[in-house]
Amino acid sequence: MCIFCKIINNEIPSKKVYEDEDVLAILDISQANKGHTLVMPKKHYENILDIDNNIYLKVMEVAKKVALKQKQALNCEGINLLNNCGEVAGQSVMHFHVHLIPRNKEDEIKFQFKDNSNKFDLDEVLKMVKL
Ligand code: AMP
Ligand code: ZN
Repeated sequence: MCIFCKIINNEIPSKKVYEDEDVLAILDISQANKGHTLVMPKKHYENILDIDNNIYLKVMEVAKKVALKQKQALNCEGINLLNNCGEVAGQSVMHFHVHLIPRNKEDEIKFQFKDNSNKFDLDEVLKMVKL
């Protein structure tokens, strides 16, 4: 059983921010910034590719509630909402979860994307990924 399933089953302690029938939100043990919270489905899905649509929407609805509460309670200036899908993308717990990381001007968190616009033809890329 994965570590988040054990948390959901109360086999491992956690700091519960929110709980309902389908969704659990807990404080992330690493606290990338004060209030860093994880929102997850109670049923085990590995990632965004296999999660049931309705459950996904419920998780995101809770994520929004958590964001509003963080803003009000912590007075943060911004929030990063983040999901890592796959080891290569930084996923270390293979149970779908969304990170909500409160942000402030003076924090030292950096998510930096390189500008690769000279490497790709956007029309070609669009042909590949357009739905
Ligand atoms: P990710 O790397 O996106 O899979 O995120 C996994 C997150 O789970 C990390 O930020 C960890 O700090 C967090 N984490 C791991 N174990 C626990 C735990 N027992 N309680 C709370 N958070 C945890
Ligand atoms: Zn699990």
